[in-house]
Amino acid sequence: MIVYGTRSKELSKEHLVDKCPNCGTHNSVDVYVFQKYAHVFWIPLFPMSKIGVSECSHCKQVVRSKEMSSTLKSNFEEIKSRVKTPIWTFSGLALIAIIITVGFISDKKKDERNAQWILTPQAGDFFEVRTDTRQYTLFKVDQVEGDSVFIRMSSYETNKISGLTDLKKKEFSEDVFGFAKSELQDMLGKGEIIDIERK
Ligand SMILES: [Zn+2]
Repeated sequence: MIVYGTRSKELSKEHLVDKCPNCGTHNSVDVYVFQKYAHVFWIPLFPMSKIGVSECSHCKQVVRSKEMSSTLKSNFEEIKSRVKTPIWTFSGLALIAIIITVGFISDKKKDERNAQWILTPQAGDFFEVRTDTRQYTLFKVDQVEGDSVFIRMSSYETNKISGLTDLKKKEFSEDVFGFAKSELQDMLGKGEIIDIERK
């Protein structure tokens, strides 16, 4: 379950010299400015509008910004224009940007590592392979001799990448199939080999 919605935080409280529109008392009205923001799991995601209320300490009347009279409203607008949107209201967006960036960097590192490993395979390496029928299976490097890479193929396929972990423990072909390193490099380039795992 994802908890999300809007919250608000008091940014400013100012005392008005003008009289209260309800009871006519001078110097009795406070105006509050709140920052509304969207949150996910209470982490501020991005700022929304600024809202406010006025409160008279004499007659206790509370008026929300939407319902303010024009004088009160212009006072509120003036105060609001001086209150800056706090930067912390963008925390969630900043966090998402960081996660995406880190994801990009680690993907790039993985690509570089695979490009290197495909040309320097070692016995025991697993190649994760996407089949023509959109299934996933494993190649296990049995032996490397010069440019030739001898591979045992998993006897099983799975429809999810996450299922490949199980396949490592299951049986592989008795027969060994020879590939040239360039062939394997080609398969990696085409996305037929999607990842390499080395102990
Ligand atoms: Zn009042």
